[in-house]
Amino acid sequence: MGIEISEIISNEQNTPSVWVMRIKTPPGLKTFKAGQFGNFYLCPEGSDASNVANYIYARPFSFASAPDNEYIEIGYKIAGAFTQKLKTLKPNDKVGVKGPYGVFTFDADKDKDVVMLAAGIGIAPFLSALRYATEKGLANYFTLFYSNKTKDEIIYYKDMEKLKTENPNIKIFYTLTQEDAAGLDHGRINLEYLQASLVRGQFADSIFYICGGHDFIGAMTTMLLAAGVDAKRIKKEDFGKLPDS
Ligand SMILES: Cc1cc2nc3c(=O)[nH]c(=O)nc-3n(C[C@H](O)[C@H](O)[C@H](O)COP(=O)(O)OP(=O)(O)OC[C@H]3O[C@@H](n4cnc5c(N)ncnc54)[C@H](O)[C@@H]3O)c2cc1C
Repeated sequence: MGIEISEIISNEQNTPSVWVMRIKTPPGLKTFKAGQFGNFYLCPEGSDASNVANYIYARPFSFASAPDNEYIEIGYKIAGAFTQKLKTLKPNDKVGVKGPYGVFTFDADKDKDVVMLAAGIGIAPFLSALRYATEKGLANYFTLFYSNKTKDEIIYYKDMEKLKTENPNIKIFYTLTQEDAAGLDHGRINLEYLQASLVRGQFADSIFYICGGHDFIGAMTTMLLAAGVDAKRIKKEDFGKLPDS
């Protein structure tokens, strides 16, 4: 299917630098797999938003909502021109969307024990998988390591704390790189931190998912490979060069 025009349901600030948008699920995106993304499109200022040919600016965004909902949710970090424009849009305004795309997908049958490594807005596809597993009551086990600069930059904090209470198979380690906060860890994600937090066996057998900006993907991949994790057990989604998180 080509670009579909969809209506914005809500578009709200979630942290100082991240916004969360919900759009009505267009027919072509009724089904997708947790972890996939869509290309989102905007029109030039003043052009007719009901004409699909006008949707010429595009950026990919991971779906943060679970599949099979009446809405699709994305979380986006304010970076350049596209995201600056996105945050000005209001309910009932239109965006174009096309997809789903991507192979960074959660496989409930194969991925029994999942370790997720996220930095900043890299949490988005993981949230989709955690929401999906919780909605479906799946028995898969998830350990999420989530790195942010400061506590108020933890995206979806309330949503994740709620998921934890609903799903005993979700364990979350929040770590802050530029602030100390009670109850949260401090420092970058490194091998020592991972080995101290994961139970033995889990490190050897889990499937590792990494998502965030380009530098984070590189650092986490190098760390896991150096620790002897088989490359086949590492899945990654590189969001590219983002303002650091
Ligand atoms: C598969 C995939 C999924 C993604 N999912 C998400 C997601 O869920 N959420 C999310 O927030 N992002 C996601 N991204 C990244 C997203 O697509 C955009 O790249 C990001 O939002 C930046 O877009 P932008 O147009 O606002 O910024 P851009 O204009 O592309 O700018 C990007 C960076 O370049 C800098 N920059 C811009 N112009 C200049 C310039 N002239 N000189 C120097 N630096 C400049 C900006 O400050 C910023 O740091 C994903 C990317 C991929 C590949």
